Amino acid sequence: MESLPTSREEAKKIGAKHFFTGVPCKNGHVDKIQTAGICRQCHLKMVAAWSSKNPVKRAKIARKYQTNSIDKNRKKAREWAHRNPNRYLIRKGFLGKASPQWLTDEQRKDITDKYDEARQLTISTGIQHEVDHEVPLVSDEVCGLHVPWNLRVITMGENRRKSNKLLVWEK
Ligand SMILES: [Zn+2]
Repeated sequence: MESLPTSREEAKKIGAKHFFTGVPCKNGHVDKIQTAGICRQCHLKMVAAWSSKNPVKRAKIARKYQTNSIDKNRKKAREWAHRNPNRYLIRKGFLGKASPQWLTDEQRKDITDKYDEARQLTISTGIQHEVDHEVPLVSDEVCGLHVPWNLRVITMGENRRKSNKLLVWEK
């Protein structure tokens, strides 16, 4: 077994989760042993036996685990989108439509600069800044373009207030 400690004492000392002695457990398994518990095979058997006796509880735990991991993934995606607003919009397909082919390299650089500016301001002020499309990219009445002159750096609070206003308009 790779480089597992060979005794529980050793495992405790170095904070390892398992150790391996090579000696069969009382049920005849030769497997690694949990530092805080029993042999791995015995543990798996115990879990399986418990699960078949408690199918409802078992399903509840599985569901809870699933919900937690979905929440975690959503949170991760949100954080990524905040860190990479440009790539988020591209991924969502907004920039493909909104960013015109005829932009010059200089204009494209202006766009990247706006995002850099927002990042710099966030760091220097400690207040979250975002790049805002003055005319929103997606809305029922007008569709703004992803072009430098439609971009401005504002704080996240201002951006949220604007979103709320747009929601009111839409009613
Ligand atoms: Zn065992």
